[in-house]
Amino acid sequence: MNLSITENEVSERELLFPNLEKIFCDINIHEYQNVMQKAQESVIAFLEENIQPFSGVSPKELKNQFEDINFNDDPKSYDEVFEEVRTLYTQHAVAFHHPKYIAHLNCPVVIPAVAAEMLISSINSSLDTWDQSAGGTLMERKLIEWTCSEVGYGKNSDGIFTSGGSQSNLMGMLLARDHYAAKHFSHPVRKNGLPENARHFRIFVSEMSHFSIQKSASILGLGEQSIVKVKTDRSFRMNVVLLEDAIKKEIESGNIPIAVVATAGTTDFGTIDPLTAIAAMAKKYQMWLHVDAAYGCGLLLTDKYRHLINGIEDADSVTVDYHKSFFQPVSSSGFLVRDKNYFSLITHYADYLNPKDHDEDQIPNQVNKSIQTTRRFDALKLWFTLRIIGKKGLGNYIERIINTAHQTAVVLENDPYFELLNRSDISALVFRYSADPFKTFDLNRINTFIKSRLYKQGSALVAGTKVNGQFYLKFTILNPLTTMEDIRTILNTIKQYGHEYTEVN
Ligand SMILES: *Cc1c(COP(=O)(O)O)cnc(C)c1O
Repeated sequence: MNLSITENEVSERELLFPNLEKIFCDINIHEYQNVMQKAQESVIAFLEENIQPFSGVSPKELKNQFEDINFNDDPKSYDEVFEEVRTLYTQHAVAFHHPKYIAHLNCPVVIPAVAAEMLISSINSSLDTWDQSAGGTLMERKLIEWTCSEVGYGKNSDGIFTSGGSQSNLMGMLLARDHYAAKHFSHPVRKNGLPENARHFRIFVSEMSHFSIQKSASILGLGEQSIVKVKTDRSFRMNVVLLEDAIKKEIESGNIPIAVVATAGTTDFGTIDPLTAIAAMAKKYQMWLHVDAAYGCGLLLTDKYRHLINGIEDADSVTVDYHKSFFQPVSSSGFLVRDKNYFSLITHYADYLNPKDHDEDQIPNQVNKSIQTTRRFDALKLWFTLRIIGKKGLGNYIERIINTAHQTAVVLENDPYFELLNRSDISALVFRYSADPFKTFDLNRINTFIKSRLYKQGSALVAGTKVNGQFYLKFTILNPLTTMEDIRTILNTIKQYGHEYTEVN
């Protein structure tokens, strides 16, 4: 490819404006190759030098190093900056790929997706309109079509890539609100704002649902007061009998049930709400059903466990987080709807971007379905991944993870030093160290101590959470490379810190 500037022109411009060789274009290929090589070396150093999931650095220690940094200093060389970034960032970056990182919902990423990232940020397409992306738009559509068909949706379904599960959930609640107002009150929210009775709108979630649903309700002007939390059963799944009780109670008090959110894979426990029963309830009371499968979407990849999310196809909208369970780099997420016409509720037209007549000419403008405008071509990562590893290959990763979690649950149950709270449908286990038969020690304190000791030491990272006011430790196993040997080592370290606490105090 030859751009309109010639080398002569560049050297001419270079005299006036230095640094033109920093611009990504065909005449700077040499610079590009050189720097990418350095970037790659810095990533490889991260892999080779960070032998623990975390360095254990404290915010104070690290903050001190930021004090003398001034962006108005003279520019530095690449080597200087890579070195600076090593000391300030990569050296202390939490290594999600480490087999002993089993804290939050962060998966290790697959190499084909990382390769795609290079194309994504270099070519830098924006997927808002056809005239800025062309093939990218069609690739994204093809992947959405594939995900919809894996969910069990029909031909009329559609969706969009988003920045994450939180944005997908926000879109679900947005469509639920606007669809309800349009259908039941002929009220166009996009145009007229909230209807008068909006303060009576109610959204039902389980008490274990993700906090982004509540946040969405606030953003959407319904307030947290619109969220009705339904108690879960002993396995932390939404109790459908209590759901119906709650719906009836709200109706009796003059409120309007508009939506129910089922979680397919709760963040803390990896359990799946009874989707089919909740779908029946949604139908009975004419509510929108949103399924938050940010975590559980990984089950779409495996024939062995796919049945656990049966019923997901009854949802009006679904959240999938490829960056949680499809081994994709952040960001990569999807929002799917059963009926593509739902998107018309939120379509806005801009003459400079996606004029209305484009629709008549069938020009595919993805911005019609998105709350973002300029948007990354994240879909390309999934494209590379499915082409190179395949659904089955990814499914094997998921099966390994679930297997490791099952075995870990057995170990925890059979160890008198531990108290396991749940059996996960996926790979999250909540438990605590509890080797104190006389209960002379506060288990909250011991487990908080264990968690912070682990974090400071950095050789294994686990998460913590509160259940019924009690502090627990949490494993989220998302790495197919994590072995039972790793798990046993981590459990031994936990025990050791637990003993330490009880001996010293
Ligand atoms: C992580 C998570 C989300 C939020 O997704 P982000 O990608 O972090 O925005 C939503 N729902 C559930 C169940 C999650 O686990």
